[in-house]
Amino acid sequence: MKILLVEDDDLIGSGLEVGLAQAGYSVDWVRDGSDAVTALSTTRYALLVLDLGLPGKSGTEVLRALRESGDDIPVLVLTARGTVADRVRGLDAGADDYLAKPFELSEVLARCRALVRRSQGRSQDAIVWRDISVDLVAHTVTRNAVRVPLTTREWVILTQLVTHQGVPQTRARLEERLYGWQEGVESNTIEVHVSNLRKKLGPELIRTVRGVGYVVEKP
Ligand code: CA
Repeated sequence: MKILLVEDDDLIGSGLEVGLAQAGYSVDWVRDGSDAVTALSTTRYALLVLDLGLPGKSGTEVLRALRESGDDIPVLVLTARGTVADRVRGLDAGADDYLAKPFELSEVLARCRALVRRSQGRSQDAIVWRDISVDLVAHTVTRNAVRVPLTTREWVILTQLVTHQGVPQTRARLEERLYGWQEGVESNTIEVHVSNLRKKLGPELIRTVRGVGYVVEKP
């Protein structure tokens, strides 16, 4: 289960990264609000752990933009500013829960578990396409109920296609999605990943739209 951790303090960030990883989460850690926005637009996370005082963009701005885009990912806000006014501001911006620094790691883990549990009861976790199931929260793909391992880049392309069924995605759009994961996307990269996805998931799922890009048709 993937968590995005946004924290500019090295000591707190590394402590949380280690603690969350030991609790079984797969953690992406960024230190800057702008990097958080990029990561959130590229990857589907099960949970966002967000510091409010950040360089680049503040946590409140990140959160507001996220909610305005319609993303309902659960968000745990961390902040040094423990006043009632700050707490209200964080919750108003769309946080699901709030923890003031200093906090105990066990407290963070308990809040994370509760938020993930709550969101699993409310959101659509999986997209099913014939015999293929893409679980956007657990970050897994199965075909005929058998787990199919994908690389991060294959996952990014696949989720972009299956969450826009019936709408062709241009190569440029897919490259843009990959951009956060590699510098200088080579022109044949998308073709290579699509070809690998077809080998893993069968030739029917992703259709080539000549001169445009690729599409997953509605099943
Ligand atoms: Ca901070």
